[in-house]
Amino acid sequence: MISHPLSSATTRRRFVGSLAAAAGAIFIPPWTALATQVAEAPKSSGAGPRKLGVALLGLGGYASGQLAPALQETTRCRLAAVVTGTPAKAERWQKKYDLAASCLYNYENFDRIADNPAVDVVYVVTPNALHRDFVIRAAKAGKHVICEKPMATTVQDCDAMILACQEAKRKLSIGYRLHFEPYNLEIARLGTTRELGAVKRIQAEDAFPSSGGTWRFDPKLAGGGALMDVGIYCVQAACYATGEEPIGITARMEPKTDPARFREIEETLDWTMEFPSGARAECMTSYNKVGNRLRVEMAGGWAELAPAYSYRGIHGRTSRGKMDFPQVNQQARQMDAFAQCIVEDQPNLVPGEMGRRDVRILEAIYEAARTGRRVELTAGESPKPV
Ligand code: NAD
Repeated sequence: MISHPLSSATTRRRFVGSLAAAAGAIFIPPWTALATQVAEAPKSSGAGPRKLGVALLGLGGYASGQLAPALQETTRCRLAAVVTGTPAKAERWQKKYDLAASCLYNYENFDRIADNPAVDVVYVVTPNALHRDFVIRAAKAGKHVICEKPMATTVQDCDAMILACQEAKRKLSIGYRLHFEPYNLEIARLGTTRELGAVKRIQAEDAFPSSGGTWRFDPKLAGGGALMDVGIYCVQAACYATGEEPIGITARMEPKTDPARFREIEETLDWTMEFPSGARAECMTSYNKVGNRLRVEMAGGWAELAPAYSYRGIHGRTSRGKMDFPQVNQQARQMDAFAQCIVEDQPNLVPGEMGRRDVRILEAIYEAARTGRRVELTAGESPKPV
């Protein structure tokens, strides 16, 4: 069974324990095996296993700009269907990707996808508040599901989504592409193996100036502002760098410089996350500043990624020197890993439970910012691959 560095505090403890016990024995980290397996998935041509059919639901910027192109590079999946509310888009996608008319759905007739054996997985790529209903409908249609981040806008919605997938005996995964990105994997490895000592301090920023005018500025659809959209990457990074879940959150909204544009959502938010080991993460997200960085300070060194969360062009250094890893198609790797999880019944590396954990943390950050008080979270282990 493959374990994963980005998902389990237990892994770290076991690893540290086994290091002590083995005293110098050679240890092959489980995530090395994972990275190799995903990278070496069989090529598409020839007699490889059937590729899983993926239906993209919501044909906006991310689906058209990243996921559909990535599906041309996947080795275990292929674009099999689309679900859209815009007939002209369906027509364009049909031509561009050579889709059968029977593989075009709208939001009303989408449930009929249950009768389409060409579709194994539904990938939900709509505004955040709509994830819940589409995930539940996809599970009820008997399909495995990938849901974009943030998983939902409330923990209750996450629970309903997890339950629906359990009841349907379908797998649910979150679109956490950075769990398949080598530089971020290295951060997780360094942090959780304590190769450079225990993690002491993390600094994480993800911010960009957004002009607004879309559903992302409508809290009913987005669930919040920059935190829900890009700040979630800082939450994720702090969790995978430590292999832990936070036990305490403090947060502060910075005063709005453009109150008209940011009438309904936060403009800039600063927060700290305290971890059981004593590590602290200092984070910032904004729709009106610039930032894309992750720095992890450990007892015996440091590691830094800048940019840290982009689709490509990630760079990193450590106190030992420059990091040098291949640039990969994160989305293709993410989808291939999910296909592998389904076909070979491998652990799900970015399960719904992890999406739920993060929504719970996002809620705590908003609560801390609103009340000005430290919010305590029950210490729990990071969700294990399921
Ligand atoms: P987008 O606005 O470009 O596309 C959203 C799509 O949803 C559009 O096709 C739109 O027509 C459709 N839609 C359906 N019902 C809608 C409604 N009631 N209001 C508005 N649109 C509706 O957004 P996007 O950038 O593609 O983001 C979609 C999801 O993907 C979000 O959850 C976002 O957080 C996530 N995302 C993830 C990444 C990543 O790196 N993992 C990157 C970008 C977006």
